[in-house]
Amino acid sequence: MSSKTADQLREELVEVAHKLFAAGVMFKGEHANLSARFDQDQMVITRGGNVAKLGKEDFAIVKLDGTVVEGHIEPVLAEVVEMHAAVYRARESVGAIIHTHAPHVTTFAIAQQPIPVVYEPLLRFGITEPVPVVPWAPRGSTESVNGIVDIVKGHPGLPVVILANHGLLAFGANPLATAQIVTTLDEAAELIINARLIGGEKPLPDAAFSKVQEHMKQFAPKAMA
Ligand SMILES: [Zn+2]
Repeated sequence: MSSKTADQLREELVEVAHKLFAAGVMFKGEHANLSARFDQDQMVITRGGNVAKLGKEDFAIVKLDGTVVEGHIEPVLAEVVEMHAAVYRARESVGAIIHTHAPHVTTFAIAQQPIPVVYEPLLRFGITEPVPVVPWAPRGSTESVNGIVDIVKGHPGLPVVILANHGLLAFGANPLATAQIVTTLDEAAELIINARLIGGEKPLPDAAFSKVQEHMKQFAPKAMA
């Protein structure tokens, strides 16, 4: 659980939004919503859909049951609130969530194809199984949210899902880690699309998965600092 203040979390989320633009994972519509868990059962969440000029004043504080504690949520975004709240409720270790339309991951979303784990850096972010596609349903609808929650619960280590015909939803320990999941998965997606032009991606050997786990254990104290 984060012991940071709401203000610190707002600051981190603004910084992370800028990093997403700098990394080239924001698509042309500049659409995203970002949140961070605050006080265990509340979250700080963006109030609008366009984050190009996101500032600290553009957030609301909402309880995980949907009650707005501070700030005004645009009615059109009430459905986004539930998409985030449901993931926090389903997995206690989630500290931040990002939804966006990163172009290469969204290409897989449009094709309704899972992203295979053929890019080693994914392993370091805990992505050790193909990133699944949540079946399409209107954004924020009960059906869509239930589809996300089923995967969050059924794949305990997985920190990201693809939303069919839409985009992605990433959920990590904190805002920066979550942004890294978004950028690394978009790199993977771009590389796989390129690889398919020259004969297709090749699988990592099974041993890669255990080797990376061992390596990360060995360096865990440093990595966590
Ligand atoms: Zn969206």
